[in-house]
This record gives sequence, C-alpha cells and structure tokens, in this order.
Amino acid sequence: MSLKSERRGIHVDQSELLCKKGCGYYGNPAWQGFCSKCWREEYSKARQQQIQGDREFAERLQREEEAAYASSQGAPSLTFSKFEEKKTNETKRKVQTVKKFFSPSSRGAQKKGNYLHLFT
Ligand SMILES: [Zn+2]
Repeated sequence: MSLKSERRGIHVDQSELLCKKGCGYYGNPAWQGFCSKCWREEYSKARQQQIQGDREFAERLQREEEAAYASSQGAPSLTFSKFEEKKTNETKRKVQTVKKFFSPSSRGAQKKGNYLHLFT
C-alpha cells in the first residue's frame, strides 16, 4: 500500500514538473503548472472569455431594457415610462427658459454692434 502510493506520488511529481498542456516544456507552479508560453496562452484565453462574457451580459441587459420599454408602451401605469415623460417635459421647459434668457441679451449685443458701427 505504501509502495503503491509512493509510486503514484512520483508519477504525479513528474507530470507536475512538465507543462500541463503536454507541450514538452517544464511547467512552473507559479503559472499553475503551465510553462510560460502556455500560461500566457491560457491567461489571454481566459481574459477573452471574460470580455466575451461581459459583452454578452451587456447585450442581454440591453435586450431586457428594450423588452421592458416595449412592454411599458402598452402599460402606461409603469412608473418608469412616466418618469421618462416627465424628464422630457422638464428638458423642453428648460430649453424654452434658456431661449427667453438669450433673446434680450442677443438683441443687446446687436445694439452694441450697431453702436460700434456708428462710432467707427
Ligand atoms: Zn506549455
């Protein structure tokens, strides 16, 4: 029994020395048993998978939002669509106020321009 486990231990040690991918290079425990080349490959693959996963998650969120918006069109009782409506109205009102603010000052600027023209 002890001999068997010993032999298995040696076998595991040998395979642990070699790169996990079996490329023939020696692995390093710091790189999870991969050689530096395969570790970089595995690392970039994992990163790409993560990026892909993030994109899928964002796309799914967008689809869910669109679906919620589409369903809110037929259900005006939803607070979200009401809030959006209110926000749009407020923005319009603000734009009108800004226009009111601007028209007298722009007229004043015109007068000033005329005055300067007369002066020169
Ligand atoms: Zn390798």
